[in-house]
Amino acid sequence: MIPAEFEYRRAESVDDAVAALAAGGEEAKLLAGGHSLLPLMKLRLAAPSLLVDIGGLAELRGVEAADGGFSIGGGTRHAELQSRAELGVLARAASLIADQQVRNRGTIGGSLAHGDPASDLPAVLLAAEGSVEVRGAGGERSIAAGDLFQDYMTTSLAPDELITAVDLPSIEGWGWAYEKYARRAEDWAIVGVCALVRAADGRCVDVRIGLVNMAPVPLRARAAEDALRGAPLDAGTVAAAAELAAEGSDPPGDLNASPEYKRHLARVLTRRALRAAAGVDG
Ligand SMILES: Cc1cc2nc3c(=O)[nH]c(=O)nc-3n(C[C@H](O)[C@H](O)[C@H](O)COP(=O)(O)OP(=O)(O)OC[C@H]3O[C@@H](n4cnc5c(N)ncnc54)[C@H](O)[C@@H]3O)c2cc1C
Repeated sequence: MIPAEFEYRRAESVDDAVAALAAGGEEAKLLAGGHSLLPLMKLRLAAPSLLVDIGGLAELRGVEAADGGFSIGGGTRHAELQSRAELGVLARAASLIADQQVRNRGTIGGSLAHGDPASDLPAVLLAAEGSVEVRGAGGERSIAAGDLFQDYMTTSLAPDELITAVDLPSIEGWGWAYEKYARRAEDWAIVGVCALVRAADGRCVDVRIGLVNMAPVPLRARAAEDALRGAPLDAGTVAAAAELAAEGSDPPGDLNASPEYKRHLARVLTRRALRAAAGVDG
């Protein structure tokens, strides 16, 4: 289908984009890679009156070391993330997003702002306890990943706010793994699991698990985390903790999978991800 009519403006800077958004009101939208927004517009599920294009802003792109972790420009594309091995599990998850064409256009800021629970990067940022830096007409603020995702495709960003950067804390000393189950290669996740494990003397010192597509928002698998934290790391404790991975989830049924099948997948993928992150065999 053809999108409804809209005005188009190419932003010259982040400040220019924020001013244009504020002037455009609630019907104005940022356009980054366009790989989530344009399909919605073509289906007429979104009909913004103004698109403010930030796709050409070099100041929004790049990865820098900061505070022991990384500051990632909000307009950094998935393809760039995928090529930065130092980003660990975020690079791995980015490499599993769709196909190379999508990764060449889609951006981390667009993925987080879109708030689709089936997206890969939101659950990774949640597990890493990262945050986003945003700028709006009222100034700048930081939003923790845990406060960003409010409901299905709904975030705590105000209509005039732009994600300028994504803060990924250091995960040095943590083992990590990302497991994604899809029907075909390069598809969206039916379920995805990001696991981070910090171990010492054969025990789990700390663990964080982010779930993709298990609720209207990305989720932490808190019951599984609580079961493993402090426990010896062996195949038995990992399997027992993974059995709790779907506790508190609310996965939507769809053409690919029933809610019960998704819960099953969450348990299986969490077991695999925890084993890989903790280096546990069997
Ligand atoms: C065929 C296909 C397959 C895909 N498969 C996957 C997949 O497997 N996994 C996955 O995670 N994703 C997948 N995606 C989505 C892809 O990763 C998108 O590129 C991404 O979700 C959105 O990024 P974008 O830059 O394209 O955002 P856009 O489409 O330009 O924007 C999306 C939303 O974010 C807002 N926005 C954009 N940038 C900012 C910013 N800096 N600050 C505030 N708001 C902003 C826009 O206003 C809009 O509301 C797929 C997309 C396609 C087309």
